[in-house]
Amino acid sequence: MAAQPENVSNGVKPNTLKRLYYSAAWRNRTVPFVLARDPLCVLALSCEGTAPSTDVDHKIRAEEYIAMHEGDETFFFDPENLQGACHACHSRKTQLENKGLWHCNLIEGDMGSNL
Ligand SMILES: [Zn+2]
Repeated sequence: MAAQPENVSNGVKPNTLKRLYYSAAWRNRTVPFVLARDPLCVLALSCEGTAPSTDVDHKIRAEEYIAMHEGDETFFFDPENLQGACHACHSRKTQLENKGLWHCNLIEGDMGSNL
């Protein structure tokens, strides 16, 4: 699954990844696999790790992770970068990411407690 060389630049546009969330491979294979592996929320931001996983979270943002691997979109599905999360924690992490406060499973500084 080599990427086409002419299309590879360092940034992967988030929009191009949206379709991967709707792909059959993601929905039928990756999501069930991760939820079975991580039945309880791994993020544990809001739930203390007691809530059942309903969402699959990319530990490192998918677009960053793919960029780290030279634009190879198969890394979108890499179970090493995926973890089960409950919806509340997943939403919270996404908010932190969008504010630039989340890096590699760490909340930067103590901003997390202020949210
Ligand atoms: Zn949770």
